[in-house]
Amino acid sequence: MIKLLTPDITFCRRLVFVCLWAVFCLAILEQPVVAAERHSKYARLLYNDKELLRDFNDKIYLGSKLRRMIRKKNIVTVEDEVIAKIDLIIEKAEVVLNMFPDNMKITVVLLPNKSAVARVYKQNYGKNVSHIAYYSLSQDTIYISVRNARLRVLAHEVGHAVVDHYFKVRPPYNMHELMAQFTEKHISD
Ligand SMILES: [Zn+2]
Repeated sequence: MIKLLTPDITFCRRLVFVCLWAVFCLAILEQPVVAAERHSKYARLLYNDKELLRDFNDKIYLGSKLRRMIRKKNIVTVEDEVIAKIDLIIEKAEVVLNMFPDNMKITVVLLPNKSAVARVYKQNYGKNVSHIAYYSLSQDTIYISVRNARLRVLAHEVGHAVVDHYFKVRPPYNMHELMAQFTEKHISD
C-alpha cells in the first residue's frame, strides 16, 4: 500500500515545485529589473544599469541656485551626484511647500521610458496610462521615465511625496495635484 502511494506523493511534490517555480518566474518577469540600489538621507534609488543612471544625471539639470547648493556635497561618482540631486530636490520641495515631515523617506525607481512606467502602473492599478512619471502613494515610490526626465518632472512627483508624508489625513486629489504643481513651478526659485 505504501509502495503504491509513493510515486503519487513524489509526483504531487514535483507538481507543487513546478507550480511554485512558475509563479516565482512570472513574479520576476513582472517586476522592473533592478540591479543597483543606493540609500541616502531621504531616498532609496533603484536603477538597472549605469548608462541609465548617467542619462538620468544629464537630464536632471539643476538651475544656478540649486547647482550652487550641490557643490557643497561630497560628490565623487555619478551615483553620488544623482543621489545628492534627489536629496537636494526633496529638501528644496520641503522649503517651497513649507512642509517638513520628519519621516521623509521615499524610493525612486529609474525606468528607461514611458512604456516601462505604463507597465508598472498597469501592474499596480490595472489601468493603461501614458505618464512619464508617477508617485505611488501606497508604495512611497516615484517611478520615472529617464527618457522624459527633467528637474520639473521629478520636482512634481517629489511634491506629491512631501505632501503625502506631511498630512496625517490625505488631502483631496485636486489639492494634492495643486501642491505638486506649485512645487514644480518654484523648485528653481
Ligand atoms: Zn501630479
